[in-house]
Amino acid sequence: MLVLLALITTPFSLLQQEYRSLHFSSLVADAHNDVLLRVMAGRDISTRSREGHSDLVRLNQGGVDVQVFSVWMSQEYGTGKGFRQANRMIDSLESIINRNPGKIALARGAREAEQIVASKKIAALIGVEGGHAIENSLDYLGQLHARGMRYMTLTWNNSTPWATSAKDETERPDSLPHKGLTEFGKQIVRRMNELGVMVDLSHVGEQTFYDALAVTSKPVILSHSSVYALAPHFRNLKDDQIRAVAKNGGVMCINFYAGFLDSAYEGKAAAVRTGKARLVDSVKTLYTDADHADQIIDSLLAGELNAVRPPLSILIDHVDYVVRLVGDDYVGLGSDFDGVSALPKEMDDVTFLPNITRELKNRGYSDVSIRKILGGNFMRVFAASAP
Ligand SMILES: [Zn+2]
Repeated sequence: MLVLLALITTPFSLLQQEYRSLHFSSLVADAHNDVLLRVMAGRDISTRSREGHSDLVRLNQGGVDVQVFSVWMSQEYGTGKGFRQANRMIDSLESIINRNPGKIALARGAREAEQIVASKKIAALIGVEGGHAIENSLDYLGQLHARGMRYMTLTWNNSTPWATSAKDETERPDSLPHKGLTEFGKQIVRRMNELGVMVDLSHVGEQTFYDALAVTSKPVILSHSSVYALAPHFRNLKDDQIRAVAKNGGVMCINFYAGFLDSAYEGKAAAVRTGKARLVDSVKTLYTDADHADQIIDSLLAGELNAVRPPLSILIDHVDYVVRLVGDDYVGLGSDFDGVSALPKEMDDVTFLPNITRELKNRGYSDVSIRKILGGNFMRVFAASAP
C-alpha cells in the first residue's frame, strides 16, 4: 500500500519541483511592462506593493531576469512634448536603478544583460512605445538610443507622419494621408538597424509591418502582440504575418491582456458593467475623471469581472499556436503587466509567471523549447540587433 501511494504521489510532487526549478534556472525575459507609468504617478516599486501587477520584489518572485520597461506616452505628447516626456520616463527608471544598485541595472546589450543576470540582478532594458516620441527627428532617435533605448515601437495606436498604426489602418483607412512607411519611415528603420535599436512592430498596421520587414536588415520584435486566428483584433497578428516574422528570424512576444487572448472577454466584461448600471452611473457622477471612475467601477465589480476572465490555458494556446505554425524559435513573452486592465486566471500578477512553465511542461514541451519561449528567443533577437 505504501509503495502504491508513493507511486501515485511522487510524480506529482516531482513535477511541481521540476517546473519551478526549470523556471527559476531559465533566463526569463519579458518584452513589455508598463510599470514606469505607475512610477511617474508616484508609486515606489522598490518595495512590494499590493497595487498593480509588478514591482522589483514581485519581478524576482516571478523569476523575471530581463525586463523591458516601456516608455509610453499618449498621442497627446506630440511635437514639442514627446521627446521630453520620453526623457522624463527614462529619468524615472534611472532613479529606480540608482536607488536599488543591488537589485537592478541597465543593460545596453545582450552580453551585458547576461552579466547582470549572472550577478543576480534584474537586467533592465528601455523600450520606447510609439514613434511620436522622436518627433520626426533622427537626432532625437540617436539621443534616445544614447540613453539606452533598445527597441522602439514604430507606432502606438496613433499613426505618425511616417508610419500608420493598426488602429488607423483598420478603422479609418480612407482618411489616411498615406498607408505604411513613408521614405522617411524607411530611413528611420535603417537608422535603428545601424544604431542597434530593435524594430518593434507591435501596434503597427499591416502595411507598415510588411514595409518595415522589407527594409530591415535585422530580426524584428513584436514586443506585445497575440494571435489573430485565436482572437480577431486589429492588435493581433495574422498567420501570414507570423510566418513573415519567422522568415525574418524575429520574435513575437505574446500579450497577456484578456481582451487580446479571448475576443469574447470585452463583451462579457461590458455585460457585467451593464448589469450594474445604477452603480456605474453613481460612480461616474462622483468621479469626473473617466479613467479613475473606470478603475473604481472595476474594483467594485472585481468578483463578477474575475468570473469572466479567460483561463490561463488560453494564453498557453496563443504560445502553442505560434509554435505549431512556425516552430519554437519565434515566440516569447510580452506581458503588458501594469498596462492592461485584465489578465487571464492564474496570472494575477508577475509572481504567477511560473504557471506558464508548468502549463508548457504539462503540454509536453521539452525543457529546451520552454527555455527558448521564456527568454532565449528574445535574447537571440536582442543579441542580433547589436551594431
Ligand atoms: Zn501597447
